[in-house]
Amino acid sequence: MLRAPSMLPPVAASLSASLLTWYDRHRRVLPWRTPPGEAADPYRVWLSEIMLQQTTVATVGPYYARFLTRWPDVAALARAELDDVLHAWQGLGYYARARNLHACARAVTRRGGFPSTEAELAALPGIGPYTAAAIAAIAFGCRAAAVDGNAERALARLYAVPTPLPAAKPHLRAYADALVPADRPGDFAQALMDLGATVCTPKKPRCDLCPWRDVCQANACGLAEALPRRAAKPAKPRRHGVAFWTVNEAGAVLLRRRPERGLLGGMMEVPSTDWRTRPWKDGEAKKAAPVKARWRRLAGTVEHGFTHFDLELVIFAAAAKSATAREGLWVLPSRLKDHALPSVMKKVIAWAQNADAAR
Ligand code: SF4
Repeated sequence: MLRAPSMLPPVAASLSASLLTWYDRHRRVLPWRTPPGEAADPYRVWLSEIMLQQTTVATVGPYYARFLTRWPDVAALARAELDDVLHAWQGLGYYARARNLHACARAVTRRGGFPSTEAELAALPGIGPYTAAAIAAIAFGCRAAAVDGNAERALARLYAVPTPLPAAKPHLRAYADALVPADRPGDFAQALMDLGATVCTPKKPRCDLCPWRDVCQANACGLAEALPRRAAKPAKPRRHGVAFWTVNEAGAVLLRRRPERGLLGGMMEVPSTDWRTRPWKDGEAKKAAPVKARWRRLAGTVEHGFTHFDLELVIFAAAAKSATAREGLWVLPSRLKDHALPSVMKKVIAWAQNADAAR
């Protein structure tokens, strides 16, 4: 465990206390939160935290409500088919989270409930250090430091940390560790999230409303908006692929399931080649097609940004007989919405349908 840096401003207890006093007055009312004094349900805390990774509170709200209605507890989610979970997740992105959510529900149900310690929680599928700490603190009252992007920003400013992210993470974590109170650690975690989300915002922080305004080193130096510093990101690499839009004699489109492991694992796709650094030549792409047909290349390309690379997809279209497909599923255009299709494939479908309509 890291030790908190020695140059702490006013003692941790007073910083925690002032933040908790602010939280009692200004806390956000969110569907997954319990009223003050009520124990939080670990299933709800976990579900909301997984959904909130890389997604805004406003977007998550309706998904959270739908999931709870359909799968009111972790055992119900464990009994669900993975495809139903992926389908319900559509629009939240980062589908590995949905696959892990389902795997985690099954693991938790097998062991008879959520574990209560950070270490045990972090051993479950899809639960990283931040989420483990958040669940341990909020649902089980453990003294755990949940440091997300909001908390990092507020702490980097409070202590005017000059080291850029991500190198500053261990220091910020150590500061957070020192601040978490033994009493109300769950409220403290949520208070820090709320402070970062509503007051200590990335741009134009509202320092005049902040419970730490008189002790914040960045505020004192006029550095708030300049912190935290971030290391320059390397340019994203570009990958290339070809997607095959095939329509059979009944007007149905060929889809197939991607392998369980890897990017967009277990989701449906318009069959495509590998996504590689080198563009595909037409001849070699046709050899990789899912059926033998008279392929024509559609004009333009579909672009999609993933976290670690940008993808450029060329689309080939053809009519084909159902019997020629070795694998996959023929789906009528009106039923495409019933399948768990990632955003990039929705773009491919829209592009191909537009091209078909324009013929
Ligand atoms: Fe953030 Fe300003 Fe509060 Fe400092 S005083 S923690 S910069 S909102």
